[in-house]
Amino acid sequence: MKEEEFNQDEVSLSWKEELEQDVREETIDEKIERRLEEMSKRRLEEKQEAENAKQQQKALWASKKINKFDKLRYREQKCREWEVRIVNQNMKDDKLGLYIHIPFCDRKCDYCDFVSYSMGVDAQHEFKDALFKEIEMYRTQCEKMVFNSIYIGGGTPSVMYEGFIYELARKIYSTFHFEGDIEFTIEVNPNSVTANKLMEYLQAGVNRVSVGVQCIDTKILRNVGRFQTIENIENAFFLLQKMGFINTSADVMIGLPNQSLEAVRETIEYLVEKNVKHISVYTLQVEENTQLYKNIKMGKIKPLGDEACIKMYELVNKMLKKAGFVRYEVSNFAIPTYESRHNFKYWKDVDYLGLGVSAHSFLEGYRFNNTPRLDEYIDLINNGNLPVINRDFIRDSERRTEYIMLSLRLATGLNLEKFRKRFKEDLLKTRATQIQNLIKNGYVYIEDGFLKIAEQHFYVSNRIILELL
Ligand code: SF4
Repeated sequence: MKEEEFNQDEVSLSWKEELEQDVREETIDEKIERRLEEMSKRRLEEKQEAENAKQQQKALWASKKINKFDKLRYREQKCREWEVRIVNQNMKDDKLGLYIHIPFCDRKCDYCDFVSYSMGVDAQHEFKDALFKEIEMYRTQCEKMVFNSIYIGGGTPSVMYEGFIYELARKIYSTFHFEGDIEFTIEVNPNSVTANKLMEYLQAGVNRVSVGVQCIDTKILRNVGRFQTIENIENAFFLLQKMGFINTSADVMIGLPNQSLEAVRETIEYLVEKNVKHISVYTLQVEENTQLYKNIKMGKIKPLGDEACIKMYELVNKMLKKAGFVRYEVSNFAIPTYESRHNFKYWKDVDYLGLGVSAHSFLEGYRFNNTPRLDEYIDLINNGNLPVINRDFIRDSERRTEYIMLSLRLATGLNLEKFRKRFKEDLLKTRATQIQNLIKNGYVYIEDGFLKIAEQHFYVSNRIILELL
């Protein structure tokens, strides 16, 4: 069916409600235009809000003549307040998230075990046709569901041909129902960002861009088969700023072979200077079946040890706190109000729908995932089938495990009372010995009914969490 032929039933619920008040009926193009205008107005308001907050802070320092020590204490306290506020606010959001996995990259990085293929435009078009059919397959099932976030990840969405994201956004807007502000994120790599593509993303309604920076010392990246130059990174941020993207995020990797503390420091300083609002920090994982794994086995590359990684993580934490970021989750730091709404959906009992090759979903009690093979994905869809290869009903025992794992990664920790009500289990009794030992050794503590991991042990949170499962 052509998009011009969409009837009123295919327009999102909130738009329909708004339209009832209109005398003249809008076309789908006009509706999208209006929605985009609203988003751009919101962007300007956000910019103004951020500027006001900055000025207020400056005025506060000036009026109170606060000394350095008090300033630090004040900042610490504000950080903690924000951490709690950010998590609590986002935990209330019950709308769905939509994830689209783009399975293409320029070339495969040596450490990568994500699903990504290095293929030309023809394959991209074939994928697009299948993806649009998959979206259509969920139209009826998702009729009554309300979404408020879109995340286009991969792979590298920015390697897709020009015009794809705009077409995709139109398809999404005219199939699923959205309400309120939409957080619309796209992942880009510095070497495939162009002015034309960013303009297209703006027109598509994208309001959050996540850049795969990893490290600004590009020699270190080349060592692990990732080819981007500092000029690419500079150009990406220059264009983002020029186009007015305020809500920008960057991925940073630590624990890369030959990476020094100094290299980590320079990367963080650079991103703060570029006014990035959100930073995700990941430690390099050496996965089997990757080129990096082979290189290490052959002795060509020497991995960094745990101790060096912990120091890097601590440095990042310290620097970002100083720069006004809040660590709302083990790997995620944000300037308050710029936390990722979409990410939170993975950390709580809220549904999300994943589309595209290898995408995962959690919908109506079931967890399911698509095939990771591009050819199988296309074949299944072209034969009228969903490309789902695993589907499991999530039992309470699994939810319990997930609840412990995910909530302890959040800055607010695990709400013991909520846990007791939800799973009919008093964790302080069922895991009494483990919790007492962890408290005695300073790994966890209890505050206002929440079980939390001590800040200095956040980096090894996974090991602590395992003791409590
Ligand atoms: S850009 Fe990202 S998804 Fe693509 S190969 Fe490299 S690590 Fe993997």
